[in-house]
Amino acid sequence: MLIDAHSHLDKYEEELESALKQINEHRIFTISTSMDLPSYQRNLKIADMCDLVLPTFGIHPWNASEYVGRLEGLRWAINQSPMIGEIGLDHHFVTDVSQYPVQTKVLEFFLAAASQQGKIVNLHTKGAEKEVLDLLRRYNIQRAIIHWYSGPLDVLQAMIEQGLYFTVGVEVFYSSHIQNIAQALPSERLLTETDNPGGQKWLKGTRATPLLIRDVVQKLAELRKTTDQAMIETVESNFTRLIHDDPWLLDIRNRVFG
Ligand SMILES: [Zn+2]
Repeated sequence: MLIDAHSHLDKYEEELESALKQINEHRIFTISTSMDLPSYQRNLKIADMCDLVLPTFGIHPWNASEYVGRLEGLRWAINQSPMIGEIGLDHHFVTDVSQYPVQTKVLEFFLAAASQQGKIVNLHTKGAEKEVLDLLRRYNIQRAIIHWYSGPLDVLQAMIEQGLYFTVGVEVFYSSHIQNIAQALPSERLLTETDNPGGQKWLKGTRATPLLIRDVVQKLAELRKTTDQAMIETVESNFTRLIHDDPWLLDIRNRVFG
């Protein structure tokens, strides 16, 4: 089965129906991460329409200032979400440094809950890779998906040693740094993503369909000198290993991977 471990299906509007049709037809297990409360509510509705969609709740670092004053009001969503994300820090696209402590405060609130509840986190780390790793250690987070890692190779190495998992996505088509990362990652930590529909739009100006995940797999297979089918099986077995004893994901395990 194809695995899209980081996507934003809530951002599809009129194309949603055809996107879900494609997900079903091609059997693409899709984690639909949220960036705020409204996107989570929409992701919950979308998951009701499609068995292969896992909706997860988080507050994206770009939205930290909007939520930092009302974190307690987010508990219900955190408690019901089987995985946490998208959360993290962004010190690259966010250039106003006064926002950084606010981002950290929001991230720490989520990490404390994820640690206490034993949930996997889905993380944005752009320009703050080392800071995120330090926080994961401080909160004793054992299981994390690092989405679209693009930082320095020494921090990547430390994250690998920490046991984290990594998605490779659409930038692998365009960036030699991302291609180096895609080749350096150990096979057993490799996952795939689209960051749909915005990931490709940011790079190429066109919104993508869920089947973009197949192109990512193809490119990864080429870079790692293996076949598409072997790549698909590696990623699926990595994902099922990551979730194998997770009580929050028992239902999805049985329904989708059983
Ligand atoms: Zn994202």
